[in-house]
Amino acid sequence: MNYNPVTPEIIEQLKKIFGEKAVLAQESEREPYSHDETACLSAMPAVVVRPSTTAQVSELMKFASANRIPVTPRGAGTGLTGGAVPVIGGILLSLEYFNKILEVDTDNLLVVTQPSVITGELQKAVEEKGLFYPPDPASLDSCHIGGNVAENAGGPRAFKYGVTREYLTGLEVVWPDGRISRIGGKTIKNVAGYDLLGLLCGSEGTLGVITEITLSLIPKPPHQVDLLIPFPSVAAAVETVTKIISARIMPATMELMEKKAIRASEAMLEKKAPFGEAGAHLLIQLDGADKAQLQSEYEKIGEIAMELGAEDVLVAEDKASSDRIWEIRRAISEALVHKSPVLKKDDVSVPRAKLPEFFATLAELEKKHGLEMISFGHVGDGNVHVNFLKNDVPQSQWDAKLPELMRDTYGAAVKMGGALTGEHGVGCVKKEFLGVGVDPAAMEIMKKLKTAIDPAGIMNPGKVFPDA
Ligand SMILES: Cc1cc2nc3c(=O)[nH]c(=O)nc-3n(C[C@H](O)[C@H](O)[C@H](O)COP(=O)(O)OP(=O)(O)OC[C@H]3O[C@@H](n4cnc5c(N)ncnc54)[C@H](O)[C@@H]3O)c2cc1C
Repeated sequence: MNYNPVTPEIIEQLKKIFGEKAVLAQESEREPYSHDETACLSAMPAVVVRPSTTAQVSELMKFASANRIPVTPRGAGTGLTGGAVPVIGGILLSLEYFNKILEVDTDNLLVVTQPSVITGELQKAVEEKGLFYPPDPASLDSCHIGGNVAENAGGPRAFKYGVTREYLTGLEVVWPDGRISRIGGKTIKNVAGYDLLGLLCGSEGTLGVITEITLSLIPKPPHQVDLLIPFPSVAAAVETVTKIISARIMPATMELMEKKAIRASEAMLEKKAPFGEAGAHLLIQLDGADKAQLQSEYEKIGEIAMELGAEDVLVAEDKASSDRIWEIRRAISEALVHKSPVLKKDDVSVPRAKLPEFFATLAELEKKHGLEMISFGHVGDGNVHVNFLKNDVPQSQWDAKLPELMRDTYGAAVKMGGALTGEHGVGCVKKEFLGVGVDPAAMEIMKKLKTAIDPAGIMNPGKVFPDA
């Protein structure tokens, strides 16, 4: 694709259309928009535009189409695959002024919101009315709900409650040519035509700009209990998960931390984890309306775990003790950066029953390629956060080995019936590997859909497809 540069004249035109405050052209103003949370990746936008209304977004897309300038939409910039990084330059479209919850509809159990509301704030707002929006990416204190829809974000609670797509009932979207559509709405059921909500959810800003979102809610479960269970090995922990599910117990979350992940958190927090010598920990959260039932469920889980070699079962029934047992898990992501500032945070998905085999394969790949890997994740749904750490390996070895290791890791996951990403998306960092998990016919159809919706290729170019 050939694009036109953003010239000083273009910037003047943008200022005239959107006003001085909405257009950032100085280098220091643009820099914060040049990266997301993906390690070692940045690219400067030529200009940042911050519209305040859907009509302005439409105007901007018409302008970009007419002038053939790439546009990269951005939420909070917490993405881990470079989706919001303007790798081809052009216009960075920040949705930061779209930051209001428009309606909490307690009769229909829905929330209507603009995209740049922080996910955790949206959760608090609906919880004040006794309602619950379950998807809980670990970044929920900073990521935006629009970014969650664009990535189809998941989180620990996905095992019981599902991912963002399960809650999405309506969108307002501005297409690349500037037309505006309202898709779906306040009904749970809507089969009029193809499922464009499903197509847009997880489209990583490559098909249109999301300007309004309607999400379904459920009543908030009033009680919860957290359990921390140390095991001698990952295999014993995963077997416990399978047995819990066979016993017809559905915890809200089931998180697995391997020993190396715990060690990294301990080092950063400068404190010992309870049972830090264990080979793996399970962190389980149960929730529900019936306290007695929760008690019988956690007792049953305790029995299953002890039979399979657990060293103990720590139970947290109040917020303070729950925060204590989650502290190590919450610190892992940052602790890995602390351990190795150069690293690649990744996520893959495998069928749950394959997890012991997958972890064994990761250990083999680590040896084969000579790069350290540390994994943890949402074991209930088979979504493993695999992290590749450079540590003090020479740069040339890292550059040569990392792509091979990534390809082998995705290949192993796909061979076991899994996917090369469970929730972080493809963005620009995994695009050359898309073919590992998507067959040629499906890839061709995806590309045709992209071209049909965005024939000029201006919508977040350089993402998702290997040749983008
Ligand atoms: C510490 C940490 C923990 C994380 N944990 C999780 C987790 O548990 N689960 C999970 O799923 N993810 C997780 N993530 C990844 C990230 O937070 C999610 O992908 C999140 O959904 C991104 O939201 P954002 O607002 O930051 O989007 P951005 O990073 O700004 O953008 C992400 C993508 O969405 C597009 N986009 C953003 N807004 C719009 C819009 N309005 N219209 C169209 N396209 C848009 C962008 O172009 C880009 O492609 C984590 C990240 C970090 C740093």
